[in-house]
Amino acid sequence: MCAAEARPARVAMLGGTFDPVHMGHLRSAVELREALELDRVHMVPARVPPHRATPGVSAERRAALLALGIGDTPGLAVDDREITRDGPSYSADTLASLREELGPQARLVMALGHDAYLNLAEWHEPQRLFDLAHIVVIDRPDHDRPLAPALQELVAGREVSDVETLMQAPAGSLLALRLPTRMAISATSIRERLRRGDSIRYLVPEAVERDLLARGLYA
Ligand code: ATP
Repeated sequence: MCAAEARPARVAMLGGTFDPVHMGHLRSAVELREALELDRVHMVPARVPPHRATPGVSAERRAALLALGIGDTPGLAVDDREITRDGPSYSADTLASLREELGPQARLVMALGHDAYLNLAEWHEPQRLFDLAHIVVIDRPDHDRPLAPALQELVAGREVSDVETLMQAPAGSLLALRLPTRMAISATSIRERLRRGDSIRYLVPEAVERDLLARGLYA
């Protein structure tokens, strides 16, 4: 077997509400894939986000916008497993189903922005997340609050400082990553702009902008 064949698969999930998808999500996914040399990034829209109000736009429509945004980008894919599953969209369950598909040796990563990471200790079964995957925290402008004690306890002893060390095991470590392009774009700001009738050009992919405007979403 040659070395390339022997390398375990490397897959990440980037979950979110994607309400709607924007360049911050997409550029982060592309740069995450490059930084970790991933085979794929599964972008997983939540059907019922456990930690926030139910979005006004259906999960199916948010997933369709995400697919438009991804277009033909290599290595990025919409993964609709949380939409087709009943009940709240717990990331631990999503990672368990990915782990079952990929096998025990695959390097599985749950990626999330620093803002989402700050609440990780309050998620459903946070310890189980580390049994199933590594966690990679993406630095995000304007989000640098200190870690709460419960989060410090959860991640104690798990932090590694580089990708090579992270990829030595299938799961269980934490890596903080500063990607080359940091974007101060949020879905909240996109929704506010649409409500006011302001331009969202270059904040979301053109196909997403066209579809949002044609359907009058978030207006
Ligand atoms: P909202 O403004 O509605 O809270 P959001 O822009 O944070 O939404 P989500 O769908 O909640 O978007 O985000 C999904 C994931 O992508 C989260 O882990 C979030 O931290 C991350 N993320 C969102 N925007 C960015 C960005 N500009 N840069 C890096 N990561 C981001």
